[in-house]
Amino acid sequence: MSEVDITIIGGGPVGLFASFYAGLRGMSVRIIDSLPELGGQLTALYPEKYIYDMPGFPKVLARDLAQSFIEQGMQFGAEAVLGSQAVALEKAGEGYVIENARGERMPTRTVIIAAGAGAFSPTKIGVQREEEFEGKGLHYGVRSKDEFKGKRIGIVGGGDSALDWCLNLHPIVDRIALIHRRDQFRAHEDSVKQAMALDMDTHLWSTVTELHGDERLEAVTLENSQTKELLKVDLDALIVNIGFRASLGPLKDWGLEIEKNQIKVNERFETNLPAVFAVGDVCSFPGKLKLIATGVGEAATAVCFAKTHLDPEAKHFPGHSSDMELPSAAH
Ligand SMILES: Cc1cc2nc3c(=O)[nH]c(=O)nc-3n(C[C@H](O)[C@H](O)[C@H](O)COP(=O)(O)OP(=O)(O)OC[C@H]3O[C@@H](n4cnc5c(N)ncnc54)[C@H](O)[C@@H]3O)c2cc1C
Repeated sequence: MSEVDITIIGGGPVGLFASFYAGLRGMSVRIIDSLPELGGQLTALYPEKYIYDMPGFPKVLARDLAQSFIEQGMQFGAEAVLGSQAVALEKAGEGYVIENARGERMPTRTVIIAAGAGAFSPTKIGVQREEEFEGKGLHYGVRSKDEFKGKRIGIVGGGDSALDWCLNLHPIVDRIALIHRRDQFRAHEDSVKQAMALDMDTHLWSTVTELHGDERLEAVTLENSQTKELLKVDLDALIVNIGFRASLGPLKDWGLEIEKNQIKVNERFETNLPAVFAVGDVCSFPGKLKLIATGVGEAATAVCFAKTHLDPEAKHFPGHSSDMELPSAAH
């Protein structure tokens, strides 16, 4: 892969704003995220919640805000390398090479770490043969709805994602079995109402205890926690939506100064490593607030210091965006 001016680790709101600001400053950008989608916590953890403290927006749905951050952050043509965690940071000349879990090596002149609480990975159901069936009928999300056309599917979970997938996939699949370990849903009231009106098999108080199949997943055993009854359900695919876990993981071995799972930065958002900055939820300094509104300011400041690091002649303050020609101005 080619060398870029700035690599942003983390495609959450703060990383996306850093991408926008770096584009505004004429820098080439690569953004890396372990998730297959951009948006960070907004998309992964609470897409259906309203946010009330975004400056200028009395109320905005997290999903819609994420979409706006993506549109704004990607408009200068940043390259997005998704679905694989950044696992190594190596010094290379004046800059660095970042490697992800797929073994892709990405040279960069500067780095901004906007990793939030760490790389997200989906929570597993924790039964035998789970790894064996991953991608062979067992999924932790939906990349393409077409893949489930005409199939008998199981959906595990009781939150917004699980119910959204019931509603979205119902028109195209053969049959849905919704599997939830409680009898109450943690989802938007309206989604629960709509989902409960669907013609599908709803298994409450139920967990998946066994996976069956030869080459691919063919059936699951469910256990009802109230009656202890076991039920075998034939399926072509199982979609698990029971949340995400976050972990700083390999970042802890990069030689960064870390305090209570956060990376220490100075007033320029520099870490202890040269040309490596940290912003958003992952950074720590006296008075730090873990908010989107403050994180995006940190991102703009870090980008401006990355710019003057690469080009000491450049101004720290680029001027106002309202005085500039932006790609989005064309819309
Ligand atoms: C339920 C809930 C409600 C909230 N409500 C509000 C609110 O109303 N207002 C508000 O301001 N804030 C709110 N927050 C907090 C807000 O979501 C966070 O402050 C914000 O998401 C931080 O943004 P970020 O970009 O720093 O990190 P994140 O959004 O966490 O994004 C970090 C990204 O980095 C990726 N990543 C991490 N490590 C790696 C790696 N090694 N390789 C590749 N990718 C990596 C992760 O996968 C993730 O996508 C809420 C949080 C929660 C959980």
